Amino acid sequence: MLVLSAENYVYQFEPGMKGVAEARPGEKVIFETKDCFAGQVESENTSCAAIDSDHVNPATGPLSVAGAEKGDLLGVSIENIELASRAFSVVIPGKGALHDKVDEPLIRAVEIDNVRRTGTFKNISLPLKPMIGVIGVATESDSIPTGTPGKHGGNMDTRDITSGATLWLPVFQRGAMLALGDCHALMGDGEIGCSGAEVEARVTVSVDILKGSAFSWPLLVTAEEMMVIVSAETIDQAAATASDVMVALAAKTLDLDLKDALILCSLTMDLRISQIVDPLKTVRAVLPLNILPWERVKSALKCADVV
Ligand code: CA
Ligand code: CA
Repeated sequence: MLVLSAENYVYQFEPGMKGVAEARPGEKVIFETKDCFAGQVESENTSCAAIDSDHVNPATGPLSVAGAEKGDLLGVSIENIELASRAFSVVIPGKGALHDKVDEPLIRAVEIDNVRRTGTFKNISLPLKPMIGVIGVATESDSIPTGTPGKHGGNMDTRDITSGATLWLPVFQRGAMLALGDCHALMGDGEIGCSGAEVEARVTVSVDILKGSAFSWPLLVTAEEMMVIVSAETIDQAAATASDVMVALAAKTLDLDLKDALILCSLTMDLRISQIVDPLKTVRAVLPLNILPWERVKSALKCADVV
């Protein structure tokens, strides 16, 4: 099986990314990932002043996917996220939702038990919910740091990006150029302290391509739900755009006019906050698959003028 070591990493998603390996559609690939601090936090006693902020959020890759072209969608099915034995959560003064509540950096360890599937924080046992914080592809024209989310994916910090889910990303460049990292052993919606339980991981995915299928934002399909993941300057803007995009997708998929799709979404769609602490904020609009079946969405995405 193709294995991308954590020594192959990027700090930017950009148009000219060069693949360090190539996979065929359907192929399984393992990404070994550093934690978001690139290993700079070694204990609760690490000095935060020593953390080089230019070297955070390394994303392993990029992986080129054979046959992926601009105007396709890249599917990344997450099969497994295997965690290292210790994670760290860090709060830095001036960062995060409660930035004025701490006057010095905090580093706390979470001990991981991969057999019991728990993390231990201050003798409190927490169920592990491994997830990928940063996952994205080469951009259309901008160079975007791995710490920022967008249409290309990136630092979406969405806890549903986990085993069993498939993330569909717009392809902007030949080969797509998939890179991922910033895994969390667990994280709450909002990520209010600016970090999850940050941990090294070994992520198994399989890749796929939907040829000639367009969509403007990352689309996540879980066992029961379909999510549009939108990032913007504010939560209000992200919520409005995510709603707009999901209404348009529902209209197209279910052959409804926009007004009826709006009512349908008002009745059935959830808006959930992914994170409020990154340079852009992320909201997901969520519809159950029994209302918006994936097979029908897939057909709708084949049309040229989808949102
Ligand atoms: Ca993150
Ligand atoms: Ca993180």
